[in-house]
Amino acid sequence: MSKQIQIAIDGPAGAGKSTIAKIVAENLGFTYIDTGAMYRAVTYKALKENIELNDAKSLENMLSNTKIDLKPSENGQLVFLDGEDVSQQIRSNEVTANVSQVSAHPNIREILVKKQQELASNGGIVMDGRDIATHVLKEAELKIFMSASVEERAKRRFIDNEKRGIPSDMETLKEEISLRDKLDSEREASPLIQAEDAIYLDTTELSIEEAANAILKLAQEKME
Ligand code: C5P
Repeated sequence: MSKQIQIAIDGPAGAGKSTIAKIVAENLGFTYIDTGAMYRAVTYKALKENIELNDAKSLENMLSNTKIDLKPSENGQLVFLDGEDVSQQIRSNEVTANVSQVSAHPNIREILVKKQQELASNGGIVMDGRDIATHVLKEAELKIFMSASVEERAKRRFIDNEKRGIPSDMETLKEEISLRDKLDSEREASPLIQAEDAIYLDTTELSIEEAANAILKLAQEKME
């Protein structure tokens, strides 16, 4: 059996992290964890329950009575919120537009980071997010910082939304992505930043397969 390592993949919105991380995990027989889905699930519940998104204490109270489960399936990772499958709902425009506000609260991050670390504690793992290399899995053997131009990322989101039946337009997507990059990079608590020991991977000109192969090659070297 090959060595069980931890692979951390960080980067801005729409850089292809989830798609590529999933392929890498499948190839290695590792567990894939999409941490963004957890912040999205919290945001979805807060919106549903009309909780003020800048009220950190109320959000924390809500989260202490919330169960978030990630389960692998043939169609990718499913997200269950208090037992209900919310995998589709957490991708809505409303959740996307509000998630950075929720994820900026240090108390919310603390709870979710602990859960992420527990999930990663046994065996090979590929985890994607914004602060995986810098906070969640600081000891990860392989750290990737994945990015792509804003135009390319908006284009990918557009195609992705089309597939999911979510209406969108390119200009709005570009604005939303740039705003989310700004909020995620400029927040106080574990902002989106490339870890010193992370490898930068620009996927603007790469196909999904090429990007996945580049990471798999690096992973194989670490696993030897
Ligand atoms: O990866 P995705 O775009 O689904 O992430 C949604 C949001 O969750 C990000 O814009 C960010 O605000 C937050 N997030 C985070 N830390 C992570 C993963 C996601 O703050 N590790």
